[in-house]
Formats: sequence, C-alpha cells, structure tokens
Amino acid sequence: MSRFDLARRRMVESQLMARGIRDKGVLDAMRKIPRHLFVEEALQDQAYGDHALPIGERQTISQAYMVALMSEALALNGSEKVLEVGTGSAYQTAVLAELAEHVYSLERIDLFIEKTKVLMRDLGYENVCIRCADGTVGWEEEAPFDAILVAAGAPEIPHALIAQLAIGGRLVIPVGDRVSQVLKKFVKQKTGATETSLTPCTFVPLVGEAGWQYGKGEAGDQPNTF
Ligand code: SAH
Repeated sequence: MSRFDLARRRMVESQLMARGIRDKGVLDAMRKIPRHLFVEEALQDQAYGDHALPIGERQTISQAYMVALMSEALALNGSEKVLEVGTGSAYQTAVLAELAEHVYSLERIDLFIEKTKVLMRDLGYENVCIRCADGTVGWEEEAPFDAILVAAGAPEIPHALIAQLAIGGRLVIPVGDRVSQVLKKFVKQKTGATETSLTPCTFVPLVGEAGWQYGKGEAGDQPNTF
C-alpha cells in the first residue's frame, strides 16, 4: 500500500466517518479516488490534510469533509443526472461520477477545463461532461437534473437552478456573503419546496449573472473566460 493509499484511508476514518458521514457510496468513492492527483505535485503530500488547498487562479479544492457532506446530502443511488457548478480541480466531480449516472459540470475559468478533462479521461470517467460557462444560469439543454451541487458561495439560490431541478430533486449550495456562508439543502416538491441549513462554511465566491459580480482584487475573483 502506498503512502497515499494509507493517508486516504486515514482521511476517510478520521475526517469523514468520525464526523458522521455514513453514506457507503460516498465513503467508498473517497477511499478510492486519488485526491493527490487533483492538486499540483508540490502540494500532493498535503492533499489528505483536513483542509482546502490552493489549485491556482485564487481557487481551492474543497476540504474532503465538505465534499463528503455535500455528496451525502444529495442522496444519490447511481441513476441520477447531476449538475455541478464550479468544477475547479474536478475532485468533487469524480466523487459525483462514482455516485450518479451522469455528471454535467460547469466552470467559469477555462484554465481548469483542459486539465480536468484530461484527468477525468485518465481516471476512466466516461460519464462526465465539463464545459466552460457561467453556472449561475445552469445548463438548460440538459435539464432537468435530479441533483445540483454548487461549489462556490452564492448571495442567494439562483432561480435558474431551481427551475432546472426535477420534482423531488435536491440542490446543495453555500448561501451567504462573500466570505462566509451556510450550506443549504433545497428539495423541490410538486407544490413548494423544503430548505434546511446543514453547516456554516467558507467557499470562494460564485461569480456570475445570478451570483456575485466580478470585482478586481476581491477574494476568489478572476475575470470571466467564456
Ligand atoms: N469542487 C471544486 C471547488 C473549486 S472552488 C474543488 O473541490 O476543486 C469553486 C470553483 O467554482 C472555482 O473553480 C470557480 O472558478 C468556480 N466558479 C465560481 N463561480 C462560477 C460560476 N458562476 N460558474 C461556474 N463556475 C464558477
């Protein structure tokens, strides 16, 4: 067993199971996916630490616990069509690819796109489509989605994402100000919806039409590249 395999096992036990993550699919996926390959080589030894890490362009790979919590909240059984907003390193994308039938992932910074497409191909994920676009308006042509995961902090839940959610569909999204948010779970029903708060959290800003406006110099900001 390599040092990374060992570190990954420990990560699952001490960061996920010890904090109450129970979904077997999520635990198995995160025991399997080589998280260190989603960060640059110089940071690989830190990839299984209990924190987010920089991935360039002032963005981060989310903390493993946050990835697990969001994935578990989507309650996936393998048959779903999932939309992800904020591909970043594509680590969360790979977890979703293990748990759902098809994953559509949107990222606004094109520098990440080529890299993550190659990585997904090399790791054998054939059920993932990644595109450079503003995820705050969703992916109309592929809607409706059984689940939607937003990996950046929003001022409010974008209307397009609610519209593109199937009846019974689940949406997880950090909502708050630019520096701190609350992770919300939204479930769309035939009539109405339910919304629950899962945990306080800190994500980079969701920048786009129905998110924060791009403002030079602010945390997490990068100009649009699509
Ligand atoms: N799950 C990713 C999180 C990356 S950070 C990971 O663990 O690696 C969040 C990502 O959301 C960043 O890459 C950022 O560029 C992207 N993002 C922010 N606003 C966006 C938008 N409107 N549409 C698509 N991607 C967006």
